[in-house]
Amino acid sequence: MNDIQTIFQAANPVLNQTPYPMMILNSEGLVVVWNRQAEKTFGYKQEEVIGNSTPFIEKERTNLYKELWQEIIHSTELFQLEPIAVHTKSGEILNIPITFKSFTIDNSRLIFCQFIMASSEQKKIGSFNEFSSIREGLESSFMMLSIDNEGLITYANDLFLKYSNWTPKRIIGKSFWKMFPEQSDGTTIADTIWGELTKGKIWKGEVEKITKDGQSYWVDLTAIPIYTSSQTPSSFITLENNITEKKILQNRLEKIAYIDHETGLMNRYRLEQIVNEMIAENHHFSFVYFSIDQFYSLKELYNNQAEKVLLQEFTQRMKMFFQDSSMARINTNEFVVITPLGEWFIQGFLSYLEQHPIYVNGRVLPLSISGGITKYPDDQVSFTHLMKASHAAIQKVQAEGGGNIVSLSKADHKALHTKSVIEKRLLVALDKKDLKVLYQPQLDLKSGRITTVEALVRWDDEEIGSVPPDILIPIAEETGLINDIGSFMLEQACQQAAEWHKKGIDLKVSINSSVREFQDKNMVKQIRKILEETGCPTELLRIEITEKFALEAEAEASIIQQMKQLQNDGIVFVLDDFGTGYASFRYMQLLPLSQLKIDQAFISSIQYQPKSQKLIQGIIHFGKSLNMRVLAEGVETQEQQDILTEFGCDAIQGFHVSRPIEASEVVKLL
Ligand code: C2E
Ligand code: CA
Ligand code: CA
Repeated sequence: MNDIQTIFQAANPVLNQTPYPMMILNSEGLVVVWNRQAEKTFGYKQEEVIGNSTPFIEKERTNLYKELWQEIIHSTELFQLEPIAVHTKSGEILNIPITFKSFTIDNSRLIFCQFIMASSEQKKIGSFNEFSSIREGLESSFMMLSIDNEGLITYANDLFLKYSNWTPKRIIGKSFWKMFPEQSDGTTIADTIWGELTKGKIWKGEVEKITKDGQSYWVDLTAIPIYTSSQTPSSFITLENNITEKKILQNRLEKIAYIDHETGLMNRYRLEQIVNEMIAENHHFSFVYFSIDQFYSLKELYNNQAEKVLLQEFTQRMKMFFQDSSMARINTNEFVVITPLGEWFIQGFLSYLEQHPIYVNGRVLPLSISGGITKYPDDQVSFTHLMKASHAAIQKVQAEGGGNIVSLSKADHKALHTKSVIEKRLLVALDKKDLKVLYQPQLDLKSGRITTVEALVRWDDEEIGSVPPDILIPIAEETGLINDIGSFMLEQACQQAAEWHKKGIDLKVSINSSVREFQDKNMVKQIRKILEETGCPTELLRIEITEKFALEAEAEASIIQQMKQLQNDGIVFVLDDFGTGYASFRYMQLLPLSQLKIDQAFISSIQYQPKSQKLIQGIIHFGKSLNMRVLAEGVETQEQQDILTEFGCDAIQGFHVSRPIEASEVVKLL
């Protein structure tokens, strides 16, 4: 019954606008259509009525109408009943005359019922005109077919005949399948539609059809099973709208949007679509990513014309070598081939290129290609990860000078996987503020007191366990999440320092910072805001930067400027891990640094290696000569502490003083 409902859905706006209450019943007396006016008049909503017998005619009287009903169903005449008592939902009884008219849609017998309200009486004839105009409306706006339960066509309307070039005589008895083109695998979309229809389901979609002479056209199709009385549909109808022009336009747009115009290969967007389709169908393939090495210097060495020649010739060779594989250009000098071919074959592309050199101005172009192979589904299982893994493989090749095609090892893929899991979980952690801060005390060697603590991030994830900062921080830097970690740490540390300060404990808090955080031009503003909000005195905050940070900062005026602003506010900058990087005197002059922290690698060998001792002594002198406070980290023994004291080191940090601990533990230590 719902299926007939669907037919009427198209007509619903019209039915709802009729100024009188009306309904359509099926041959069993169940309501198929119940218009808005009927809802208003009788108080029953569509959902209460449709599919049920009319709820408002007195039970005792229904028998009286049985015979009459049969007569109405089988007649083509218009029946007008004397007013009958109709109960509204609110209990009111209305005496209303009703007119009935039977009609057939396909094989279903239906009865149109109009309630004649006093004011709308004069319109009663018009209502039937309106109804037939609905049918006419359907017929004139849709191509329509009726199909019997064996899939043979029993009726086609004029519109259908017009588009499909069939004559009415010829089409009757033809199979429904004949209207559809065959797909490459021999099936047709008709199989899919038929499958749904015979299960009693409605099918809707955009499909390609063919005319009598095999011309293709596109329609927006709704196929509906029709029930007469039995459980299985006795026939089907299809309503179609021609959308060929829209499709042609769409195809053209797709071509424009999905093709790389310089090479004629597909572009990255199309590649993603194709890969996703292949993944959905679980086709196995290799995802091969090529990069033309030193493309930009090639461009400079020759000219723009050469670039064009190179791209076209390279594309040509790729097509010759990989034949039927799908190929895309995804960046100026980067290409992807999707191929079922094996690794050794793919690697053979390099010798193929050597044997078929590209000439520019009569000279062989020195061409070097780096490639990464990632297999679906063995290595990675999504487009993004195939891209990432292949890109990582290329970077590996390029780091070794380029000119090679490799695939990543199992361990590499595992690392990539771990990374992507961490990325995902980190987002959750940041959202839930699941990160935690531990504080590691620094001992001032002159006063013998703990004056500073370093804030260190800790992350214990409920799914992946605890992730140490050495793994977390580089990943966060790569994804940009370091900014969120940074502001979280800053907020926590400042809050903690403020809390201690209020209790009369003035502990300085040192936080670690990445250069990426300072690349954000709002860093100064953000730090000032957090200091203000938490009520943390500015002098209590120290910021540790690494030598890598310093090197990058040196090249970016805005970073140096922000650091200087913060220094003017009273914030102290510490150079962390000193001695492991490229200790450059230039950045030490440029950046507002006031403390040096000697890396733990030097400290661990201090007792046994006289050379280390000399080095540390040198660093300490060097720092002092620049008026810097010098700290040492990684101090694990009393001997180490003694030596550092003797050398004039200002403060130490390490397990010998304390491991990183909770804020509450810090107070106990003081
Ligand atoms: P770091 O800034 O050099 O921090 C000192 C690291 O050495 C800490 O490791 C600490 O637990 C460890 N350590 C301290 N004393 C000793 C010792 O006596 N012996 C030994 N063997 N190790 C000691 P952790 O917490 O795993 O942090 C590792 C690195 O992660 C840090 O090195 C820092 O570069 C980075 N990091 C930690 N928290 C943050 C953060 O909030 N932001 C940023 N950007 N980086 C952070
Ligand atoms: Ca540090
Ligand atoms: Ca350090």
